[in-house]
Amino acid sequence: MDDTGPDGHLSVFEQSCAYCGARFRVLAQVAHEHQHASYPCPECGKRYEIEADAEPEVQLLRRRGDGKDDRYQETMF
Ligand SMILES: [Zn+2]
Repeated sequence: MDDTGPDGHLSVFEQSCAYCGARFRVLAQVAHEHQHASYPCPECGKRYEIEADAEPEVQLLRRRGDGKDDRYQETMF
């Protein structure tokens, strides 16, 4: 599972969206330095942050379970 190379390593984990309940797998190239990238939930678009070199790849594992199809509204004021 640990694909260590000169440019960091690939981190793979599964996550459930806190907003819509979808489950997805995240594949991120983890940075040596503290760089931040964000990735969206594939179902509702809610964004999560991770320490990575670039935007991670996201694979949907299970569709959202809340029965809605709205998009997550970012609330940053
Ligand atoms: Zn979601």
